[in-house]
Amino acid sequence: MDRYKTTKIAGIFGIIGNVFLLVIKGFVGFISNSQAMIADSVNSASDIFASLMTFIGNKIASKPEDEDHNFGHRKI
Ligand SMILES: [Zn+2]
Repeated sequence: MDRYKTTKIAGIFGIIGNVFLLVIKGFVGFISNSQAMIADSVNSASDIFASLMTFIGNKIASKPEDEDHNFGHRKI
């Protein structure tokens, strides 16, 4: 498996895992009235954003070379 495919899977799992954590922590935080748990669910939301950036950056980096970028897009 090439590194772009591996990174894509890591990004997707990161998004799915953090959506799960966001929902669980948010739910438990609200029913138990715990500010710490709610704050941690917000932290999971920022991790979803980080995983999304991994996914998008990887997608751009995997593009083959073109006229403007003779050495490919790996360094994006
Ligand atoms: Zn290009």
